[in-house]
Amino acid sequence: MSRVLVRFAPSPTGRLHLGNARVAVLNWLYARANGGAMILRMDDTDTARGSEEFAQGIRDDLVWLGLDWEREESQRARTARHIEAVEDLKTKGRLYPCYETAEELEYKRRRQRARGQPPVYDRTGLTQTAEERAALEAEGRKPHWRFLLDHEDITWEDMARGACHYRGSHLSDPVLIREDGTLLYTLPSVVDDIDFGITHVIRGEDHVVNTAVQIQICRVLGGEPPAYAHMPLVLAADGSGLSKREGSLSLSDLRSQGIEPAAVTALLAALGTAEAPHPERSLDDLAQTFRIDGYGRSAPRLDPAELDRLSAHVVRGLTLEQVAARGISVSEALWEALRPNLVKLSDLSDWVALVDGPVTPVVEADDAEMIAKAAALLPPEPWDGDTWKAWTNAVKAETGRKGKGLFMPLRKALTGLDHGPELGVLLPLIGRDRTLARLTGQPG
Ligand code: GLU
Repeated sequence: MSRVLVRFAPSPTGRLHLGNARVAVLNWLYARANGGAMILRMDDTDTARGSEEFAQGIRDDLVWLGLDWEREESQRARTARHIEAVEDLKTKGRLYPCYETAEELEYKRRRQRARGQPPVYDRTGLTQTAEERAALEAEGRKPHWRFLLDHEDITWEDMARGACHYRGSHLSDPVLIREDGTLLYTLPSVVDDIDFGITHVIRGEDHVVNTAVQIQICRVLGGEPPAYAHMPLVLAADGSGLSKREGSLSLSDLRSQGIEPAAVTALLAALGTAEAPHPERSLDDLAQTFRIDGYGRSAPRLDPAELDRLSAHVVRGLTLEQVAARGISVSEALWEALRPNLVKLSDLSDWVALVDGPVTPVVEADDAEMIAKAAALLPPEPWDGDTWKAWTNAVKAETGRKGKGLFMPLRKALTGLDHGPELGVLLPLIGRDRTLARLTGQPG
């Protein structure tokens, strides 16, 4: 068997969301698990909606996830090859022009449904004579072109879904060329898969009917169909679909929210399997135990809260070197003290700034007396994780303040802010000298 070669084939019409990122991760893991490689193929034939900015965004997203690819291909750059395939299909009598408008086709489908028939294209275009076609063109109509399906059984053993079976006669001859002469994705995809020697196509379940058609096209073009795995689509926590166009849960959003890429890849690799996510394992390590048949047939749901939890786990497990490599300078003592409380690495710099200062203390007039008493009650060092509780209990007993009325003025005096990390963690790091200075209103 030849070397495993897979492709991830996004259309650069938007940024990647978690659903298509999952397809990328599974392709990469499959290739890595089988000693193969992945190609990144930009399905960029849709020039109206696609853009180089989106293509670059997709590359950035994949790199952020830690995925790599052997080379990149562009479908648009291969138009000449696709046109050759069109000519080949025409010569073989497998492509025929059709002149119906979208409204006429819709009308036909409605009539078929009303009669209880499946809405399969009736092949009117196939039986039209040259004169009839010429007359339609004289009306100003332009043809779209359909592939003539063989009315035979189409079967394949899907690596994810098991045995798949379609009747050619139950499918409409697919449109391969639009009225304006541009190609739909269906044919270029097959041509490229053949020419690149793709051995395995791993993609979303929404393509399963395309596969039935593409297997026939592939054979007519003289190719051997690759193996297929159609993965159930990922649903949002509420059961709705994840859509690229709505930008829901896009990787770029997650990235700007400070979610760790290892949390994303671990969750995507585990989603739909019986395994718990393993964010502490590298992608290479995950590939060691990867099985494409380990994924269930039903649509998994993705809970963003799970992503937050895994991401916090990743952050807390980073080493000081990894933190430094991310451009954050922090002492070992501070890192060790702060990391068990971190949710996002991006919070670390803010926390360090609260410890090291300078902080401009905020003391409201109503709180000045309480803050002065609190300063007087500061215990001597050494301080530890219990100091905050002991100290604030003493302040509470002395001033009668409690809850928000106690903690908020202390927080504002110590950090200059009305929100932030747990003061119990910060206090021993700030230390007695700086705490006292801040409580007495001195910036520092
Ligand atoms: N461009 C298609 C998509 O994003 C690719 C499908 C395929 O993998 O063949 O859905």
